[in-house]
Amino acid sequence: MELLKQRILKDGVVKAGNVLKVDSFLNHQMDVALFSEIGKEFYNRFKDCNVTKILTIEASGIGIACVTAQSFNNIPVVFAKKNKTKNIAGDVYTSKVVSFTHGREYDIIVSKDYLKPEDRVLIIDDFLANGSALEGLIRLVEDSGATLIGAGIVIEKGFQPGGDLIRGKGVRVESLAIIDSMTDSSLTFKD
Ligand code: 5GP
Repeated sequence: MELLKQRILKDGVVKAGNVLKVDSFLNHQMDVALFSEIGKEFYNRFKDCNVTKILTIEASGIGIACVTAQSFNNIPVVFAKKNKTKNIAGDVYTSKVVSFTHGREYDIIVSKDYLKPEDRVLIIDDFLANGSALEGLIRLVEDSGATLIGAGIVIEKGFQPGGDLIRGKGVRVESLAIIDSMTDSSLTFKD
């Protein structure tokens, strides 16, 4: 998606540990006009799949998922909660995720009320790096018996293993910008 790539080149900042900071338009301040274009692009890619629900993970995925849901005729958005305590209350699906940015392992949970076998789920997230967040979300969908349509990712770091890992499981992953390489002074995209 050209608009997104141009914005990454203009405002993205490469940090230590292969972290791309996009706080000025995606992860802290949010450019809603850009989000709207992102939502339309995800819709174009998945419009023939009868998606009934969007699943994301708190916090950064929520804004993108909500704007995307508007393009899908306002289907519901469910966000997996990051659970820091060991006590997981209630009737929930749960899986483990290793945080890319903090290195910690944590549980993610979704209430069984909001993922049902009849759902056709599109997962949306901001970044794909090692694939742990996406793997965790996929597991929640599988455990619920819902149908996984695929995953829409805003920025995939193609030089990290997540994309190959998840596509290797047969999951359709659509990334709007795939970064081939990045250093302090240069950033290149695949295609
Ligand atoms: P993964 O689980 O694929 O290793 O990492 C995905 C998650 O880590 C995303 O949900 C995102 O929050 C965070 N993340 C991974 N890489 C980056 C990055 O380069 N920049 C930012 N801002 N977040 C990242």
